[in-house]
Amino acid sequence: MNVAAFPVPRLGPHPDRPRACPPGQPAHLPIRPLWLCRACGSPWPCAQARLLLTAEYADRPVDLAVYLSGLYHEATHDLFRLDPHAGPTPRELFDRFVGWGPYRRGVVGPA
Ligand SMILES: [Zn+2]
Repeated sequence: MNVAAFPVPRLGPHPDRPRACPPGQPAHLPIRPLWLCRACGSPWPCAQARLLLTAEYADRPVDLAVYLSGLYHEATHDLFRLDPHAGPTPRELFDRFVGWGPYRRGVVGPA
């Protein structure tokens, strides 16, 4: 992997949530531009990050949706620049970043 070819993060939303929980432990925040969790190495937002974000934004679902949508935009940019051919599709990234959030649609079966 050519590290010098990594895209420079833009000035979009800064991924600073969820906070470390419990305090003093590594926070489940993304490493940019790879968008892997600093704490557990899973694709971000990892299961723990989703749990902590849900709790942290429990009374502010619009704020969580805006935060996730902004990071979706940033991640799409970063990951496409890293590998435009074999990286995750926009649909996969939407499901990963936004689809699990507070304004997702319910599962609809075939008509
Ligand atoms: Zn994690």
